[in-house]
Amino acid sequence: MTTSRRVAFNDGNAVPQIGLGVWRTPDEEAASVVETALRAGYRHVDTAKIYDNEEGVGEGLRAAGLARDELFVTTKVWNDDQGYDEARRALDASLRRLGLDQVDLYLIHWPSPRRGRYVDTWRALIAAQRDGLARSIGVSNFEEEHLERLIGEMGVAPALNQIELHPRFQQRSLRAAHARLGIATESWSPLGQGKLLIDPAIARVAAKHGRTPAQIIIRWHLDSGLVVIPKSANPNRIAENFDVFGFALDAEDMTAIHGLDNADGRIGPNPMTADF
Ligand code: NAD
Repeated sequence: MTTSRRVAFNDGNAVPQIGLGVWRTPDEEAASVVETALRAGYRHVDTAKIYDNEEGVGEGLRAAGLARDELFVTTKVWNDDQGYDEARRALDASLRRLGLDQVDLYLIHWPSPRRGRYVDTWRALIAAQRDGLARSIGVSNFEEEHLERLIGEMGVAPALNQIELHPRFQQRSLRAAHARLGIATESWSPLGQGKLLIDPAIARVAAKHGRTPAQIIIRWHLDSGLVVIPKSANPNRIAENFDVFGFALDAEDMTAIHGLDNADGRIGPNPMTADF
């Protein structure tokens, strides 16, 4: 069954391998988009305080009528809320907007090195997990040196690091660090924000399997052991992006997609220099 594919965390919990991303889904559309995805079989939704749609997401979660323990909800602490007290207040506010007592995964959205507060923020997340407000805790956009510092100073490794990752920016060295440190990898902008859907190499693999480019790319993430959170607000595409188990990529396909990796393939900000 599709919904049973999960990736294990270092804290004993696990995450459904496909989730719905809702960045740029307006709050007023989020309820129906989330409900549509849950009815299509998704059990995992990825939001953030900065997406400004946690209320709509919460409404959609309730509308689908599923038991709480069937759902996996991620949200993130924004850069302005970094710091021990600030992060705890931010989590309380996110929970209120979502209408939940606990999130399944709470992430530090960016390390924001210039603020120098991500270790203090991590301390707040460790306390939040202890207090039952977050089942698992992790980070996003952390580079290896940031991960090493958290683990060195606090002794707790993130369950997961959510990073920009798609066939044109495969993050092989950071993934190797994750494997060494016991951290799951989650791919943001897994379709390259849609730009990869017209790549000729992807199109060839799609034609070979009679599948869409989006399905090929999502399947590549899954077969690479990654957690993947494609975004769509369109019901047909939401269903298409989850219908990825009726075919298999072979070694030739994996090699072709492997070959698209490009050191300059990053679309989003570089976490070392991002200044927001
Ligand atoms: P994505 O790679 O998921 O691409 C989304 C775009 O692809 C959509 O807007 C749509 O135009 C197109 N698309 C999706 N499915 C399609 C289909 N089947 N056919 C044709 N076109 C299709 O991009 P994203 O939204 O940037 O990333 C996904 C999620 O990752 C976000 O919604 C968010 O939850 C998360 N994210 C996190 C960070 C972070 O800093 N942690 C940054 C960016 C995104």
